[in-house]
Amino acid sequence: MQQFEEFTQSPKLAQVRYDVRGPIAQEAARLERAGHRITRLNIGNPAPFGFEAPDSILQTMIKELPSAQGYSDSQGIYSARVAVAQYYQSRGMTEADPDDIYLGNGVSELITMVLQALLGPGDEVLIPAPDYPLWTGATTLAGGRAVHYICDEQNRWWPDPEAIEAQVTDRTKALVIINPNNPTGAVYPREILEQLVDICRRHDLMLLSDEIYENITFDDVEMVNACTLADDVLTITFSGLSKTWRVAGFRSGWIYVSGPKHRAKNYLEGLTLLMNMRMCANVPAQHAIQAALGGHQSIQDLVLPAGRLYEQRNAAHRLLSEIEGVDVHQADGALYLFPRLDPEIYPIEDDEAFVIELLRQQKILVSHGRAFNWIDSQHFRLVSLPSVEDLEEAIGRIADFLGEYRDA
Ligand code: PLP
Repeated sequence: MQQFEEFTQSPKLAQVRYDVRGPIAQEAARLERAGHRITRLNIGNPAPFGFEAPDSILQTMIKELPSAQGYSDSQGIYSARVAVAQYYQSRGMTEADPDDIYLGNGVSELITMVLQALLGPGDEVLIPAPDYPLWTGATTLAGGRAVHYICDEQNRWWPDPEAIEAQVTDRTKALVIINPNNPTGAVYPREILEQLVDICRRHDLMLLSDEIYENITFDDVEMVNACTLADDVLTITFSGLSKTWRVAGFRSGWIYVSGPKHRAKNYLEGLTLLMNMRMCANVPAQHAIQAALGGHQSIQDLVLPAGRLYEQRNAAHRLLSEIEGVDVHQADGALYLFPRLDPEIYPIEDDEAFVIELLRQQKILVSHGRAFNWIDSQHFRLVSLPSVEDLEEAIGRIADFLGEYRDA
């Protein structure tokens, strides 16, 4: 019989990583198949933790389903784009226009398309470390080079504008901001955002601002949309329904393009080509956007004191801080904490192996810090979506595991 060669993946995937759904998730699935109950503190997916979408979203989708059977315009249905434009108008972007809004199958698809349309071989993108790893993976997949700027754990995980500017080269095309930040929970103050915008202004970089957690902030911290500081900088703002409106499974997100669009005509034609090639975003979920943005903003009830997200984030922080050798910043926003394990007490060589051992022993799944392109092995990310009771149980088991690690 003729011997054929193995089918192998494209070399363009060689450096592409997305470890948050890699071996750790596969091991969790294996343990589940073997009958174990795994507490998943690894993915920011609100629905499985009992966070329900506002009923108006569900009812609108059900009502619109019969009229949502065909493809839509590639950029997105007009009523939803009007709603998103009004959303940014209400945040001070008075010139926001439905033509500046593009809808996608979640922010994920839009990140990929925005970078595919922008980057040529060797073009550089400044990306935070730690990051939401799709930014790095999608940059690499697009042929670009992710240049990580280190956020300062000693300074509330804020970026250091001076250090970032020193990393700009003549290949740098864009600066990525994730604010509020996944995985650190940092929310960047206005002064730092102004400096980041200024770097883009002076070096003619595109500003890519991932604000998917913009409505999940705590304790009256000020959330500034970067575009409001950047009239003269080409800015693409990313957001969507997955987190604030708790419908991650619907795959619904948008971008808003602002600043000197007359200088981006060619770029936007490229982006439109990619949008056309994938026909359109999921149409029923596009109908959810207007209902989401126009209805009662129930996320507020969750992030204010006594709200579920507020109380859980406090509990997670308190419980982790009580463990010997664990340092953790309180999150000002988003759904995560990114604790540090003191290397004197917990010297960890391979944080992925460490997380897999925690999973096997305690049936708790968290994500290791390096999955977020972080520079050491002493961190992990935990989501604060479970109830306080479940967090107590889960973090108690993490403490037991660490106790044994310490004594070993
Ligand atoms: N950006 C950040 C910072 C995220 O944390 C996530 C999801 O966790 C995404 C984008 C992707 O969101 P979507 O569900 O809209 O694809």
